[in-house]
Amino acid sequence: MNYEAYFRRQLEGLHREGRYRVFADLERHAGAYPRATHHRPDGTGDVTVWCSNDYLGMGQHPAVLKAMHEALDSCGAGAGGTRNIAGTNHYHVLLEQELAALHGKESALLFTSGYVSNWASLSTLASRMPGCVILSDELNHASMIEGIRHSRSETRIFAHNDPRDLERKLADLDPHAPKLVAFESVYSMDGDIAPIAEICDVADAANAMTYLDEVHGVGLYGPNGGGIADREGLSHRLTIIEGTLAKAFGVVGGYIAGSAAVCDFVRSFASGFIFSTSPPPAVAAGALASIRHLRASSIERERHQDRVARLRARLDQAGVAHMPNPSHIVPVMVGDAALCKQISDELINRYGIYVQPINYPTVPRGTERLRITPSPQHSDADIEHLVQALSEIWARVGLAKAA
Ligand SMILES: *Cc1c(COP(=O)(O)O)cnc(C)c1O
Repeated sequence: MNYEAYFRRQLEGLHREGRYRVFADLERHAGAYPRATHHRPDGTGDVTVWCSNDYLGMGQHPAVLKAMHEALDSCGAGAGGTRNIAGTNHYHVLLEQELAALHGKESALLFTSGYVSNWASLSTLASRMPGCVILSDELNHASMIEGIRHSRSETRIFAHNDPRDLERKLADLDPHAPKLVAFESVYSMDGDIAPIAEICDVADAANAMTYLDEVHGVGLYGPNGGGIADREGLSHRLTIIEGTLAKAFGVVGGYIAGSAAVCDFVRSFASGFIFSTSPPPAVAAGALASIRHLRASSIERERHQDRVARLRARLDQAGVAHMPNPSHIVPVMVGDAALCKQISDELINRYGIYVQPINYPTVPRGTERLRITPSPQHSDADIEHLVQALSEIWARVGLAKAA
């Protein structure tokens, strides 16, 4: 076999479909978000970032940076080991206590990323409970799907955000089998929100555990930034809440929160937790500062929602169709991979606006889109510039304008 030729042929297929991934080479500037320097082969340019998951700009917050500087200077660069072997720093312990409090749970467990937390927790729970059946929302994130797949346990996919379908799927199962219902609060591509209370009702009736991915909710919703479940007073109904420190909290890392027993179980059996070096103390310190800030302050959340509402209103006035949803994610549908890429290229090259095209397999074919994420730091002028640019491009490429 000619390995090199094989790799090249596979990549050519992606190019032909217009969904070969090109990373924007960005240099972020602390204090200047959403402005960044875009490095291109022919030089550099200033861009306004409109697609970051640093939803609240906490990645540049003075309290976060100060905590990280202090921890870096006092503890050094790396954690020095896995959690079990010399790698548990006091900042990890404080961070886990903070996360447990954030979600009103007994305990929390820190992972290197949200991806790893989903993968390790779901695969460990399901594979270590004999006969466990996982009920998984059909639009769950890749990290959950991979964890479920790795568990090799029986899986039933229920229709997206559909408690009735979940109820039917549960009714088919052995009433005595252990069961785990896995779903998300805010779905990151369509921005829709799960009926958490109804799903918990159905799960409780079948004595199933519940596992909620709050990655796109934490920091952003609820009086303390505990997510959608926090906002709706439902945190106590979830067996496990999973979240990230990398999106609204602006740093990096993932976690689960739950009872002391379930967190200890995952801590004790999950390979993806046990055999990986813990995050640098400075990262834990930064995340801790970010969570503490957002538990006490709602200004960022309010300004965030204000910016989202303003962008939607201006897009409506300009006739640029976007998918309605109750969250902070503004999907502008294009419906074609190559066109989506072309629009994104035009935005960055002609207008200095960076919005990454979202193509298959992140979203289904035919639903390719620009996923726009306003932040508290986007000004009225930034919004006008974006709406004007989209309006001009829509006219040029002949995309239908909304009535
Ligand atoms: C981004 C994401 C993750 C992974 O979190 P990271 O901290 O980025 O690894 C998990 N679940 C969902 C729904 C996500 O969008």
